[in-house]
Amino acid sequence: MTTTQDFLALFESSDAVRRGHFELSSGLHSAMYVQCALVLQYPRHAERLGAALAALFAHERIEAVVSPALGGVVIGQEVARALPEPPGASGGGTPAIFVERDASAKMTLRRGFSLHPGQRILVVEDVWTTGGSTLEAIRVVTEAGAQVVAAGALIDRSGERIQFPVPARSLVSLPIESYTPAECPLCRAGTTAVKPGSRFQRPG
Ligand SMILES: [Zn+2]
Repeated sequence: MTTTQDFLALFESSDAVRRGHFELSSGLHSAMYVQCALVLQYPRHAERLGAALAALFAHERIEAVVSPALGGVVIGQEVARALPEPPGASGGGTPAIFVERDASAKMTLRRGFSLHPGQRILVVEDVWTTGGSTLEAIRVVTEAGAQVVAAGALIDRSGERIQFPVPARSLVSLPIESYTPAECPLCRAGTTAVKPGSRFQRPG
């Protein structure tokens, strides 16, 4: 049986979870940084994680997966691949579609994607920090007349504190403490915070 520790090891082996002393985009400092794209770049890892996340919703009848772009697209596809095809579907599997921002930065369905009234939807994202993108996706699905039956994410950084209006489950709960620079214990210990990804922007 695969445990949370096994999944975490998969993330760490792909450098998707890094430990150290980081300055996040918010300006806060943290001892841990997560970038799911680094594990999802490997199709077999993505497929395995998608199957594990889909298994959390095996008791639900799901007719389509909806993800917020960009972060949710790859894992949404893999979760949908692992779900049983709904009755009456085309033979192509459970649809995996995504919502994305329009010119006014509002999340919406584009590209001709559509949902039908009452369609049972699982909303899937890579990481929940505040859960904002998932909440927006739930709004879009609901406004389209479909029904969000649950929401899922690979990693929940909130410590399971986000209040979603539907049942929500993550594969790994990984609460990440963050600090203002003035109160950062890592700064106090004498190390310097680095911006995640900076070593890729400045190779060598
Ligand atoms: Zn610091």
